Amino acid sequence: MIGDNNRSESSPPPIYAAEWSELRVVRRNVFLTILAGIIAIGAKYVADPGLHVTLPSALLALVWAAFWARAYNRYVQWPCPRCGKPWQLKPFWRGLMGPSHAVPRDSCSHCHLPINS
Ligand SMILES: [Zn+2]
Repeated sequence: MIGDNNRSESSPPPIYAAEWSELRVVRRNVFLTILAGIIAIGAKYVADPGLHVTLPSALLALVWAAFWARAYNRYVQWPCPRCGKPWQLKPFWRGLMGPSHAVPRDSCSHCHLPINS
């Protein structure tokens, strides 16, 4: 039968479905914050070409930085639903090798729980 949607009925829903939904929201917020920053820089350049720093643009940059820092901190500190440790952050001795915590992970860096399980 074409368009049969029995696939969702045959496979059980993920144990941590609510947590994975929250992780998608956290990741989306980081992306949208970065996108908003790019759009704001573009709009500022269109309105005032050049590298002039004005009070409104400086205030806008500070507000954006606060939103980005909050979203990014929530992203890297988001707790694994199984072990409770930060999903993105590797253990200290392995996290020293560059900005690896910024790349979205498919599994927990501590207990290796795969995403969407
Ligand atoms: Zn874990």
